Amino acid sequence: MEDCIFCRIGAGEIPADVIYEDKLVIAFKDIKPAAPFHMLLIPREHIASFNELEPRHQELAGHMTLVLKQLAADHAMAEKGYRVIVNCGSEGGQVVYHLHYHLLGGRPLGKLLP
Ligand code: AMP
Ligand code: ZN
Repeated sequence: MEDCIFCRIGAGEIPADVIYEDKLVIAFKDIKPAAPFHMLLIPREHIASFNELEPRHQELAGHMTLVLKQLAADHAMAEKGYRVIVNCGSEGGQVVYHLHYHLLGGRPLGKLLP
């Protein structure tokens, strides 16, 4: 996906403030942080959205969940708490169509649901 900005970040073609990377995923700071700590975790593989996850992604999906937990712990958010968000599709507010998990913390985030 040559025109996908997150594929290009994953390939090292566009600079990003990388926090963690391994053969499957890369985590970097959000360019427009909504909290003191706001990072994005993406798969290196182009998966357009949460809707496109398939059974073959089982290992990747589990890995991403555990990396999120570890990133939160590594940034001292485990005790106070944090939030993981996936925006999916237009009504979900998705802007970049390459699967990504937002990890937010470092301030009280308020209630999202009533
Ligand atoms: P979403 O609305 O879930 O698709 O969120 C996309 C997120 O990507 C937004 O929070 C943007 O600030 C962030 N973003 C877009 N371009 C970049 C970039 N080049 N580096 C880091 N974050 C980005
Ligand atoms: Zn992509």
